[in-house]
Amino acid sequence: MTKSAVILQPPLVQLNGPYPSGAYLAAFFRSLPSYGIRGPETVRWVDVNNRVFRSLFSPAGISRVFDLAESVPSESLGAAGEDAGREYARFLSLRDRWVGWIDGIVSILTGGDRELAHAFVRSPYAPRGRRMDAFLAGLESEPDADDARVLATLAVEDLADLVTVAVDPAFSLVRYAESISASERSFARVEAALSGPMVREFFEPVYASLWDELEAEGMIPREPGDQTLFCVSVPFPGALVGALAMARSLRARFGSRIVIGMGGGYVNTELRSAVSPRLAEYVDHLCFDRGYGAYAAFFADGRVAQLAGVGGAESGPVRLSCPPAYRELEDRMTREIAPDYADIDFRLYPRLADTPNPMHRLWSDGAWLKAYLAHGCYWHRCSFCDVSLDYIRSYLPVGIERLYFSLRRQALSHGLRGIHLVDEAAPPRALRDFARENLRHAARDGGGILPFWGNIRFERSFSRDIADYLAAGGLAAVSGGIEIAAPSGFESIDKGISLEHLVFSCCAFKEAGILVHGYLIYGYWDEDEAELIDSLEVTRQLFRAGLVDSAFWHKFVLTRHSRVYCEWRERAGSPAAGRPSAGTLSGLEPIDEPGDFADNDLRFRGEEASARYTAPLDAALSAWMAGEGLDAPIRRWFPFPVPAPRVDPNLVGSLVSAYERARDEAWDLPHEREADYAWLAGKPVVIGSDELCFWHLGEEVRVATPGARRVAEGLSLAGGEAVDPNFLASLPPELFSALRRHGLCRVRPI
Ligand code: SF4
Repeated sequence: MTKSAVILQPPLVQLNGPYPSGAYLAAFFRSLPSYGIRGPETVRWVDVNNRVFRSLFSPAGISRVFDLAESVPSESLGAAGEDAGREYARFLSLRDRWVGWIDGIVSILTGGDRELAHAFVRSPYAPRGRRMDAFLAGLESEPDADDARVLATLAVEDLADLVTVAVDPAFSLVRYAESISASERSFARVEAALSGPMVREFFEPVYASLWDELEAEGMIPREPGDQTLFCVSVPFPGALVGALAMARSLRARFGSRIVIGMGGGYVNTELRSAVSPRLAEYVDHLCFDRGYGAYAAFFADGRVAQLAGVGGAESGPVRLSCPPAYRELEDRMTREIAPDYADIDFRLYPRLADTPNPMHRLWSDGAWLKAYLAHGCYWHRCSFCDVSLDYIRSYLPVGIERLYFSLRRQALSHGLRGIHLVDEAAPPRALRDFARENLRHAARDGGGILPFWGNIRFERSFSRDIADYLAAGGLAAVSGGIEIAAPSGFESIDKGISLEHLVFSCCAFKEAGILVHGYLIYGYWDEDEAELIDSLEVTRQLFRAGLVDSAFWHKFVLTRHSRVYCEWRERAGSPAAGRPSAGTLSGLEPIDEPGDFADNDLRFRGEEASARYTAPLDAALSAWMAGEGLDAPIRRWFPFPVPAPRVDPNLVGSLVSAYERARDEAWDLPHEREADYAWLAGKPVVIGSDELCFWHLGEEVRVATPGARRVAEGLSLAGGEAVDPNFLASLPPELFSALRRHGLCRVRPI
């Protein structure tokens, strides 16, 4: 019988906070005592990634890195080049300083040691590396304690270079052996990475001490027949080797007293057809999709004991997914469960200042509580997206009031302020309702607004009114797919939006003070050079107009669960389980290779052709994000001839003008009785007998009106609540229109 459950986040993934899957599973297991788990106290969620970070970047960890570095033959250092050899020698020379400072560096990153920060930036006896030197050399004035967090971030990155060179070339700060794990068809090759030095030297000692801890806490059963369920969550390929090593260590330590399951984003997408019998030596089951229905059935059926020791099965680990009889429970849980962060000590997470770009910083700076407003994507149609999988296809909004209440309670108890919404594309109405809860609670309990940010789809619903309301209600930034910025691009991938929608929504966000990040894709199987150039030119214009703060180019990856591949397979007439036969979809020719492991990412004929664009596209984006080269012709980024863009050089500018006209027209519309309006500006102050004075978006606004006191009272509603419609209907049209321009926001319907 299962008596307890432990959820583990393996190394290596992002450093500044845990992934949310553990928080959702912990909340779910704590709601299930009747299925066998004894009670909420027998559920534990452990972020092992954070433990590995703190173990590696500790005096003992860094000493071990230097031990290993000192054993590297000096001839191999010379082979790495003069600069690398000199840098290596500097590390070895400064060993004692690195070891002596590492606790302080981590403390600066976790928000402590302000006094040490002064010394860290100024002391000639503090350690220095290549990145730190470059940062200090680029400062226009003497460094001060406010520079310490940037310098500490760079210190960790410099040390990470040493680890990569001296300990394990598969190491990087937020992923391990990713190139081995991403879309690897052969489990044997992944397994080979399990003997990597990083695993041996740093992962396994952390695992061993955690198992001691869990055993001492009584989380591992002593009675024969009792078992603990271990759920290992793998969000990305860079966490796979750490996860498998963890499973191996668990199995060796506890044998049949435990059952090991593996789930998470990587498992959901890549391992749905994994059949390697060797994989079953590590994990008893793979859990797909949300996990609620699958694990409820798992416990109810008493299948835990049956699963133990299935290693060696011909078809790999047992696969768990939600049985039809548990669909209702799964959906109910999806709507009702709020992630549970009780097991996480957010004070232990480093806040990395690794980029000056304010939008990029959000990903690494700040330990955000992560949650979603809806499971799945309400659009679920884009051709390149995994729309056949539950995490995209099965759209289900969650109860916003319940979710917000739980997040606010947890945020305040953890001393945190920020929420990161991890939706695939947060629905506009849910965002508005989340912002409304934020405004209401902040007005009620005086605890202030919780800033939040997340993924959206750049669609028409994000008007200036809604953007203003979201900003007032805490929305700090949005990220969303632009994909192909060329006018024809949105249609070709069935994005469901147009360039006009993109520009209008970005204008609204930027006017409301919200940061914007865009995801771009190049290298589609049917993208020609002219379309790519058009996409780049529109991107330049978006930056030039100040509509996006940052962006990122992804190279198109054809996936087995994407809409385009599913359609291609239908046309090719291949049986679902078999390898596709020859066929094309607008020239698409997938190359499917046999294997026993990961199989979501597929190669396709001609994909190499786009490789030559990678460096120029990245160079252009880097410059534009730094505000440079925005007026230069885009052909300058390419070291080879490319066609001139076909789009009007003022294409985005003309859409911005159209946005401004549409926005002004909306402001001039008369009061609508069935709509809700909220007052977002500061409290109106009456000057004399007929003038209102208030502040909105950083500016002083003065409005002359008879009966100024009555108007001020009508607008002075706290908490973003709807203003009385009878009061608004009584206002003269010109006053209503003036107020609409300065803080009277139409928030419903959208
Ligand atoms: S790409 Fe984004 S908007 Fe399109 S279907 Fe996927 S999640 Fe939805």
